[in-house]
Amino acid sequence: MDNNQAQQKIVLSAMKPSGNLHLGNLIGAGKNWLKMQEDYFCYYAVADLHSITEEILTKDLREYTLDLFCWFMAIGIDPNKSVLFVQSQVPHHAELAWVLNCFTQYGEARRMTQFKDKSLKNPDNINLGLFSYPTLMAADILLYGAHYVPIGKDQKQHLELARTIANRFNNRYSPTFVEPEGIFPKLGAKIFSLSDPHKKMGKSENDPKGVVLLKDDPATVERKFKSAVTDSETEVKYNVAKKPGVSNLLVIYAEVLGLPIKTAEKHFENKSYAELKEGVAKAVIDTLIPLQQKYNSFRANKENLAELLKQGSDKASFTARKMLSKVYRKVGFV
Ligand code: AMP
Repeated sequence: MDNNQAQQKIVLSAMKPSGNLHLGNLIGAGKNWLKMQEDYFCYYAVADLHSITEEILTKDLREYTLDLFCWFMAIGIDPNKSVLFVQSQVPHHAELAWVLNCFTQYGEARRMTQFKDKSLKNPDNINLGLFSYPTLMAADILLYGAHYVPIGKDQKQHLELARTIANRFNNRYSPTFVEPEGIFPKLGAKIFSLSDPHKKMGKSENDPKGVVLLKDDPATVERKFKSAVTDSETEVKYNVAKKPGVSNLLVIYAEVLGLPIKTAEKHFENKSYAELKEGVAKAVIDTLIPLQQKYNSFRANKENLAELLKQGSDKASFTARKMLSKVYRKVGFV
């Protein structure tokens, strides 16, 4: 870390490799990743340890992990500027998580609403990993002294717990961990499914027609937009309550081109829904093609990819090891 980096605040942002990346991820998260890279010293983790709390095939986890690592770079995360790494390649995460488990009360973990929700959704696999997910997440953050963590509403409770654990450890021994704060990304809009504009665009397996994957070829993108659900009227207008499908298309258009929504609306004034769908599909295809070219070149060059993975895990381990040694020493491990 040079002097300039040392003065910057630290951010940890982790994403679970558990599916193919889609347009919602690009618009909702991608822009914020880039902005954070400018404003802070960032650690970007491909959080594969978190992926196995739910059943996932070996080959899928491998693919999603390497894919996500390459998409981060294709979108513009610079491995020379930020630390981009795969969580399981830095063993200190799992090691610190164990210590933090011992500083977390059963009652505190039991209160986590995400654990309750996921248990209800998946009653056959309520494993201990799912239960202790928040302490692993706390380890991810605390290892790097992160000041800020970009989170959505669903992670607020977990971050609060990370702060509680950090504070408890610091009080019991001496100041060790930074108490992280949540930042709520401002850029990027929420994107809805093309087949159900009331539902957030999410994992493709549940909604193959409604989700535009970053990997999709132009013909597939066109087909998905062509079948996008709109309404029985004809006027292209931004009105989320009355015209959720059309509004979603306008938002996608505005977001990928970096335009205000009013400009997008004006562009499609007096045009048909078919023209709207065609226009949005074209804007998305034009955005995806250069990203896909970068992604493909990172993904295809195995030697370079192995080197980048190693570089990232070496850099992350360097910082993580120092923190874990401090913790082990304070706890009394010889
Ligand atoms: P996920 O893998 O679904 O947890 O998504 C990772 C991140 O991508 C989220 O934290 C959001 O910032 C972003 N994201 C996911 N889906 C959408 C969406 N439909 N619209 C906007 N942002 C999204």
